[in-house]
Amino acid sequence: MSPPRDYYTVLGVGRDASDVEIKKSYRKLAMKYHPDRNPDDPQAENQFKEASEAYSVLSDAEKRATYDRFGHAGLRGAGVDPGFANAEEIFSQFSDMFGDLFGFGGGGRGRGRSRGPQLRRGADTAYSLELEFLEAVHGVTREITVPRYAVCGTCSGSGAEPGTQPSACSTCGGVGQVIQGHGFLRIRTVCPGCGGRGKVVTSPCKECEGVGRTRVTDSLSVTVPPGVDSGLQLRLSGRGDEGDPGAPPGDLYVHINVADHERFRRNGVDIVVEVPISYPQACLGATLKVPTVDDEEELEIPAGTPSGKVFTLKGKGVPRLGRRGGRGDHHVQVVVAVPKKLSEEEEEIIRKLAELQDERVAEKGFWKEFLGRFSS
Ligand SMILES: [Zn+2]
Ligand SMILES: [Zn+2]
Repeated sequence: MSPPRDYYTVLGVGRDASDVEIKKSYRKLAMKYHPDRNPDDPQAENQFKEASEAYSVLSDAEKRATYDRFGHAGLRGAGVDPGFANAEEIFSQFSDMFGDLFGFGGGGRGRGRSRGPQLRRGADTAYSLELEFLEAVHGVTREITVPRYAVCGTCSGSGAEPGTQPSACSTCGGVGQVIQGHGFLRIRTVCPGCGGRGKVVTSPCKECEGVGRTRVTDSLSVTVPPGVDSGLQLRLSGRGDEGDPGAPPGDLYVHINVADHERFRRNGVDIVVEVPISYPQACLGATLKVPTVDDEEELEIPAGTPSGKVFTLKGKGVPRLGRRGGRGDHHVQVVVAVPKKLSEEEEEIIRKLAELQDERVAEKGFWKEFLGRFSS
């Protein structure tokens, strides 16, 4: 390989050229040596690469400064390799420039896309899975049926009636792509005659009417891990539509939707539940049986527990998804329940209690009685 030429010489600009001049000059050269304009011309391709390399250095202030001071060796010393292996790399690096140069995005011929007939991957499909609250907490296995496109069994996906063969597309000559436009602004696009496959079916398969795929219904079992929540999706790899024969199938995305629970609320991996207690229980303390997502737990509440107080049962919440493991917490909020109706006996006792309190307030004053003695 000959030593690299001076980048300013390559682009045909002076050493004091502005960014705009450099860009302008590169555009001119890129159009001149563009591979679509010079098919199978290795010399043009080399000039295209050389100009692109020069531009990648001179359009970058830092690299340009290094190059100005130390030349090619300086770039190598700084670990900069401005060279390009092929045209696709150039299109992808300067896609914005080629986008506006040639009037479409993506760079010249479609980034990284190879020439020739294209196999299409199957499409992704979606399914919406409704779960009960506790199913989402504990995980569940569900049988679902999902429609999808599968390769036609009769023609093995060719679309041609068994015993016949698809013939090469006459529009593109079997290449799958056509060149459109005129002059030097020619672009390669997917052949409209065959949709890029390079082949057309002359005697269509009766089963799939030449499409090569048929609608089928799959029954599958989905294992939902413990701890999922609404909005999450599970990906079932390869369970989407089948694509062209030889191309990978799409994936099935299962969207999770979790129903509300009559008592439990969920806050991430924590469970929140409200539990009613009576006024005597709040005053005297009690042992409660509180529901959890597993079963129920005993919870001691101390004497003098105010309404609204939250007690936490560690590690009794929702399992964490993923590797971290463990479970969230179970929060119990106790709320003093006030009966709407009292029995005669209850009413008598509560009136007695009220009288006692009135006496204390009369004796000590309101603030001392209520703020001093009542917890909150
Ligand atoms: Zn068929
Ligand atoms: Zn074609």
